[in-house]
Amino acid sequence: MLKSSRFRLLRIILLLIVLFVVAMNTWLTDVRIQAWERPVWVVLYPINADGRTDTEAYIDALRVDHFTEIGAFLQREASRYHVEQNPLAEFYLAPELYAQPPEIEVGAGLLDRVFWSLHMRWWSWRHDSWQGLEPDVRIYLRYFSPQEDRPLSHSLGLQKGMIGLVNGFAGVDYRGMTNFVIAHELLHTFGASDKYDLETNEPIYPDGYADPQQKPLLPQTRAEVMSGRIKVSPSWLLMPQTLDNVIVGPKTAREIGWFPH
Ligand SMILES: [Zn+2]
Repeated sequence: MLKSSRFRLLRIILLLIVLFVVAMNTWLTDVRIQAWERPVWVVLYPINADGRTDTEAYIDALRVDHFTEIGAFLQREASRYHVEQNPLAEFYLAPELYAQPPEIEVGAGLLDRVFWSLHMRWWSWRHDSWQGLEPDVRIYLRYFSPQEDRPLSHSLGLQKGMIGLVNGFAGVDYRGMTNFVIAHELLHTFGASDKYDLETNEPIYPDGYADPQQKPLLPQTRAEVMSGRIKVSPSWLLMPQTLDNVIVGPKTAREIGWFPH
């Protein structure tokens, strides 16, 4: 009895130590990133999520410059907030990963999300195909064939967790949209919060609007990156197809340490 309760205590202490180390590490990375004094190193890990050969062919042809527009977007938006650091982020493409990351339900509760985030860290530590410098942020890109008629599940970025999970279609036509989703999840890892209603996908006014002062308010022609939709008319929401018409609004900017002057 005594032995098993001691063992239990030991397990709890170990878990607390792990949680403490994770929390400290996250906090330190967060403070460093939000200072924006050196480029953030982002490593992208492609994964064939449906095992199809057309998905594999797409992944084989991926190059790091297919993601250049994400860096250009960050630079363009940061300069509007007088952030001097250049480049703001550097992107690296890791070799394909042959393991599938742990999944989580969209409506998962807090405890499930905490366990998922620990599981995800453990998983990312176990399966690392990257041999270069230690990344600040890891983004896992789960590619699906556009030939299969199924909706993509939700992408996720651990807020202040330095890990993002992005679902995308393996096709050139979807590249702009995937880059937009990567930018959204990347900003979550920098500390940005969602600016849309999770039930209806509607942008939240005013922070989720790119042009909240516009008169008339609709149609909007650009999206705020953390709201993720362009509200064209009362019943029409459009997902941006490229980062060209996406902006970082003032609230998101403050959350990631860009202070408007
Ligand atoms: Zn989000």
